[in-house]
Amino acid sequence: MQIITKHYIHGAFVQSHGSEVMDIIKPTNGKVIGRVTLADEDDTRHAIAAAKSAFASFGRSTKEERRKILRRLHQVASAHVHDLTVAMVEEYGGVVQFAGLIVQSGVNAFHAAEQALEELPLTRSWDKTTVTLEPVGVAGLITAWNANALFICLKLASAVAAGCTTVIKPSELSSLQTQVLVETLHEANLPKGVLNVVRGRGNVVGAELVRNPDVAKISFTGSVGVGKSIMRDGAETMKRVTLELGGKSPTILLDDAVLERAIPSALVMAFLNSGQACAAGTRLLVPKGKLDQVKRAIIDAMAAFPVGDPADPKTAVGPMVSQKQYEQVQSYIRKGIEEGAEVLVGGEGHPKGLEGGYFVKPTVFVNVRNEMTIAQQEIFGPVLSVIAYDSEDQAIEIANDSEYGLHAAVLGTDLQRARRVASQIRSGRVVINNMTDDPQAPWGGFKYSGVGREYGRYGIEAFLEPRAVLE
Ligand code: NAD
Repeated sequence: MQIITKHYIHGAFVQSHGSEVMDIIKPTNGKVIGRVTLADEDDTRHAIAAAKSAFASFGRSTKEERRKILRRLHQVASAHVHDLTVAMVEEYGGVVQFAGLIVQSGVNAFHAAEQALEELPLTRSWDKTTVTLEPVGVAGLITAWNANALFICLKLASAVAAGCTTVIKPSELSSLQTQVLVETLHEANLPKGVLNVVRGRGNVVGAELVRNPDVAKISFTGSVGVGKSIMRDGAETMKRVTLELGGKSPTILLDDAVLERAIPSALVMAFLNSGQACAAGTRLLVPKGKLDQVKRAIIDAMAAFPVGDPADPKTAVGPMVSQKQYEQVQSYIRKGIEEGAEVLVGGEGHPKGLEGGYFVKPTVFVNVRNEMTIAQQEIFGPVLSVIAYDSEDQAIEIANDSEYGLHAAVLGTDLQRARRVASQIRSGRVVINNMTDDPQAPWGGFKYSGVGREYGRYGIEAFLEPRAVLE
């Protein structure tokens, strides 16, 4: 059993002032594996003060100095990919093959930010005018539980590249993973106060970050509801905000797609991170004439998506993070059935033999209409809705008929046509034929999927303010 009672403030592990103790539960069996003491407002203010005093000098650091720090962060994080992956599998239940990729993308974020910073002009001059891009100030970084190391590294990398100092509030469900990460980042020997990490509840630590006048910027990854409250409450102190929120991403299967390749690809996107992924492709849009073939192809392909022990490299779908998340997924599956969708595979309840943990059955619904709850709301579990369309134009219309606009996929053989369809999708990213990533390409959403972008130069710009000096 791991006991954690300290936060990371001004370059040191310091005893929590807050006294609430929370159990950490292992999602595969519901057993308590850790106990953590959560921070209160005093701890949070202490961390903000450390970041504020560090900003006085770090805010004036040069590009070269920041690039050097990013290289150090990359170096120390690279040495701990294995420990960070093990922690993600243990505490969150992430399947090991995907957890390794997630951690690696977090580690790569330091390298990507260093490269992007090198290419980003921080000064532009013309005539008697000079414009410099200045760090916005102390940044509060608030993150979700489904890819802890990635969110923390990504936000920290962009903030540091911009010259901001940080107070990080990870999800309280990610406390053990955060401990491994903070011990790792501590090895980079950053200037004291550049990195502060306070573990605690959203309505305590998160709320203090949002209302504190010494915090200039909030970069948040989480739900739409909390994102709205951050925008609203942050307005009081004129916070700059970046919000990375939910998704209900469409995968458009064009009629020239080769099903043997396209269906496994579509299922990979649907069941990404056990379905607990903002980018998961949870609506599969299929030409009506191909529906029967697609159903058969899905049933055949499901054998490659076994659910079970996340530490087993053969497992594709692990448990949900918590009992609450398990129940949320169950309630959506019930709702789908009540509203008249047909279960093609999966359904309610635990998979056989996995009753002791928060496992759900990977589920595919057919006969789904886009206005149904399961096609409109984010389920955040391995539940795919198959929706039939008549024409390419209708497929685009259905894809865009969503509150969300984070991610989308187009699957087809004719690349020109796939690109034409992609160019009409109202979302921050569209991938063609496969789930793929580029750490320099922007990440973020249209509509209710958020405000602003992360990754590469777009992510750094979110922590900068232009200042013009005119002679
Ligand atoms: P959540 O909104 O409940 O919590 C996210 C973070 O906000 C946590 O650290 C939480 O403690 C904190 N928080 C809660 N209340 C707060 C408040 N009043 N003020 C400040 N902070 C507060 O989300 P979650 O359940 O942790 O994560 C799941 C959600 O995150 C899903 O909706 C998912 O789509 C979204 N998400 C988005 C992305 C993206 O990049 N767009 C990535 C992953 C997850």
